[in-house]
Amino acid sequence: MRMPPLRRPARPQADAFEEFQATALFCNRCRQAQPVRERLLLVLPDGELREYLCAACGTSLGSRRSSGGAPLVVG
Ligand SMILES: [Zn+2]
Repeated sequence: MRMPPLRRPARPQADAFEEFQATALFCNRCRQAQPVRERLLLVLPDGELREYLCAACGTSLGSRRSSGGAPLVVG
């Protein structure tokens, strides 16, 4: 008699993390999702490069380039 194969969820509680707002990222140092502080890193011709820092410990959690400025028209 064979045992039925156990079904394990591939992503336990993964859905819970998607409930977080975009302003909260997982911090490896804090080992939990933290609110982030947005910092303007660079101003590019076609957008802005922003860095996201953990509001609790200040660790860089990532950066994102956002385009939203007026298009650069030359000539
Ligand atoms: Zn942190």
